[in-house]
Order: sequence, then C-alpha cells, then structure tokens
Amino acid sequence: MIIQLTKDTDTKSYEELIQVLDKNKFQFREVKTQLGSYLIALEGNETDIRKIGNLSAVKDVHAVNAKQQLVSSKWKTQPTVIDLGDGIQIGGRDFSVVAGPCSVENADQIKEMRDFMLEQQISIMRGGVFKPRSSPYSYRGAGIEGLKYFSSLCHEQNIKIITEVMEAEKIEAMYPYVDVFQVGARNSQNFHLLDALGKVDKPVLLKRGLSGTLDELLFSAEYIFSGGNERIILCERGIRTYEKAYRNTLDLNAVPMLKEKTHLPVVVDPSHGTGKRGMVEPLALASVMSGADGIMVEIHKNPAKAFSDGEQSLNFNQMAELNRKVIATSQFLEGLNTQQSI
Ligand code: PEP
Ligand code: MN
Repeated sequence: MIIQLTKDTDTKSYEELIQVLDKNKFQFREVKTQLGSYLIALEGNETDIRKIGNLSAVKDVHAVNAKQQLVSSKWKTQPTVIDLGDGIQIGGRDFSVVAGPCSVENADQIKEMRDFMLEQQISIMRGGVFKPRSSPYSYRGAGIEGLKYFSSLCHEQNIKIITEVMEAEKIEAMYPYVDVFQVGARNSQNFHLLDALGKVDKPVLLKRGLSGTLDELLFSAEYIFSGGNERIILCERGIRTYEKAYRNTLDLNAVPMLKEKTHLPVVVDPSHGTGKRGMVEPLALASVMSGADGIMVEIHKNPAKAFSDGEQSLNFNQMAELNRKVIATSQFLEGLNTQQSI
C-alpha cells in the first residue's frame, strides 16, 4: 500500500496515521523524494483503506497488489515523463533517439558527432568515460577530463548527455557535467550505487542486468525511487541466453511487459542487445513497434577505429538512415493507434 502524504503534514496528524498503521500491524517505511512524501506499508491486517484515506495527513492512498510498489503502474496510471530541460523529454509523446559513441575518445570525436547529431535533430548523446570492460587490458575510458569536454561541447549546442557511473563515490565529481546518470548492466544490482542515486536530483537510466529478470530490474528501480529519486528510465539491453550467434538476445518481450507493470519510460539498446552492426537497424525499428519510448544506439565516424564496441557501432550514414526510418515508423505507429475502426 502506498500512502501519499499531504505537503505540510503536521506532527499530530502524522502520529495519528502512524497509530492507525501500528494498530493494524503494518510494517512501513517513509519515503521522501524530490516530488513528494510517501509511506510504504506492507503486510498489515486487512484494512478498509478509505479509513486511512480520510486521515488529514493523507493526500491519497493506493492498495498496490504488486511486488514493487512505487514503480508500479497500479497506483500511478499516467506514464512518467522525464524532463531533461530545453524541451527535451524521454517518455513523452515523441519517440526518443539517443545516439553516441560507446566510449568518449577525444574532443574532436565529440565535436564531429555533435555536429552530425544537430543535423539529424538528435538531442541526447550517450558516451562512456568510465567503461566496464570484460578484460582489464581493454580501453577503460577518458575519465573526468573526458566528461568535462564531452559535457561542455554538447551543452554548448543544447545536446543533453547520458553517461555511466560505476561507483557511488564518483557521483559528486560527475554531477555538474551529467544530465542523465547511466547504471550499466553489470551494476544493475549494485544496491549501494542505486541507494546513492536515490539521493541525486538528476535522472537515472537503469539497464537490465546481464542475466537479470524483469522483477529484478523493477526492484532495482524501486531502490532508486524509495531512496528519493523518482526520475528513472528503464533500459532493455539484451540478456545472456544459450544462443551464441550474437552477443546478447534482445528481449523485446520486456517492452510491453514493463509498460504494463510500470509507469516508468522504457528504452531499448539494440547495440548491446545484438552486438552486431547489421542487426541494429531491424531491432531498433522493432523496438519502435514494440511500444518502447526510445532507443539508445552506439555510433562512430569510423567504427573500425572505435576504442570499444566498433562491431556494433553504426557509421554516420547508417545512423542517418536509421533515424529517417525510426521517424517514419513511429509516425506509422501513431497513425495506427489513432485510427478508428468502423
Ligand atoms: C554501455 O552502454 O556503454 C554499456 C557498457 O552497456 P551495458 O552496461 O548494457 O553492457
Ligand atoms: Mn558499448
């Protein structure tokens, strides 16, 4: 059960509510986010929730019959829109395209890519400066110095940036430069990091774990929300299965399932989801049709020379072609959804 508290609950009304919960043997936890205050109450006696709803400390009360509470669509029926400022949103009416390098390499690379993205009217760039690599001998990223030029070159032209944070202790140093903090697949259940991101007033893009279930992904999102940050974007990026023909199996089943279970926006990463350049476009278009709110794609001016993930990166022409088809596909889908049957 989610109890939304009124804005200026006084001590007396708050205590009255706590007494009712105690009397009915509820376990509860208080959650304060940047947007509101809640009590999450679990496992109490069967109670007429209207009695709780009538208390003066309570703005609204919702019986949520789901494992996860705050991220559940059972209480918040309108989809959450993540506002990045300057009219840029994820989860709104428009399908979002995020593109950028796997790794930030140098300022010239970012400048060229930014100019390409401006031409394409793509307003969010992804790029890692701290890279989780399977081998310790692979390129590990340009670090904070890389983040500084990545951020300033993009912000100069009103392009927002998404970048991965691998440890809670780096959040503070990264904070001034980042628009969206990415939690990578390997950290999807790093609860220390998730707790820390709950304290941050910037959106978080949370990737599904390498072998993570949807329930685990939603619980991870619940960590961030219950830690205080409501602005979460979920990302399907493929899971490990017995199939070895491609890097991961992109689980597009996840999109309609997540859209049913949660009010949070869902984006798809067809680059890591397939690991193969030639598969990125068809799976990106399938992501649009699956009902996703956006895609996040790795691109590089010269993929053969990329410091990381060149095999799954599109070159600029391929990205321009994909962007054209994504726009056409999402318009087609919107047309289908608004058409009346007679
Ligand atoms: C990435 O997006 O840069 C990345 C490392 O992806 P993942 O965590 O999904 O492997
Ligand atoms: Mn990558």
